[in-house]
Amino acid sequence: MKQYIVAGNWKMHKDIPESRIFVSNILDKLIKQQRSTIILCPPFTALFNVYELIRNTSIALGGQNMHSEPKGAFTGEISGEMLLSAGCQYVILGHSERRHIFGETDDFIRDKVKRALQVGLKPIICVGEKLNERQSGETLDVVRRQCDSALSVVNEQEIGHCVIAYEPVWAIGTGVVATPQQASEAHSMIRKLLSAKYGAENAEVIPILYGGSVKSSNAASLIQAQDIDGFLIGGASLIEDEFVRIAEIVEDYVKQREL
Ligand code: PEP
Repeated sequence: MKQYIVAGNWKMHKDIPESRIFVSNILDKLIKQQRSTIILCPPFTALFNVYELIRNTSIALGGQNMHSEPKGAFTGEISGEMLLSAGCQYVILGHSERRHIFGETDDFIRDKVKRALQVGLKPIICVGEKLNERQSGETLDVVRRQCDSALSVVNEQEIGHCVIAYEPVWAIGTGVVATPQQASEAHSMIRKLLSAKYGAENAEVIPILYGGSVKSSNAASLIQAQDIDGFLIGGASLIEDEFVRIAEIVEDYVKQREL
């Protein structure tokens, strides 16, 4: 069965007390979700504290990044094993801020994907084009290149543990959201690519999330678009009512579809 996901990427926001208060305030509402998976991705320092609050619920925990090596002299880095031990099931990899602010390459992200799967974490693999790439008609080429690279280390058994997030860079944190048509075009291309690599049956159930200025006011039209299976949310995931409302919109959509 297809998995629908609502993931909150808190980026570098919320210290430990703020994280605890935030999760405590919305927990009751989030655990009502039955058909969609909620994933919270707080900063590293708050991971375990958030885990303690959600450990016996259906809500999952994700890291925002990890290194490709298991251990070593990598000051400031964190390993997949460390994320696992803090209670994570997921890890965001290749987020545009990692690619474009911190210079992470396709090869480095590919190695992280490999490591995440090796240790038993589910990678949320982020791909997406910059504004100039969209303007010059390169969107699908860029997304294809990023997907091909990250998935080059993923076999047929492992693909079922992966999540793809299409996040156009020009839409992240800008308030400019992709239209459902723009998002759908990229998602459909990703689905085709997955189908060619792993077969149509496998491809159909791999969640492809949209990310980029998702809010409660645009979530309903986006979730109805072809091949959008949920959201990776930055800014709006920091606002209690907004995050809960988006989760409810996705849940309602999934339940309605199944009627
Ligand atoms: C993100 O950081 O992944 C993101 C999509 O951010 P925002 O929702 O704020 O655009």
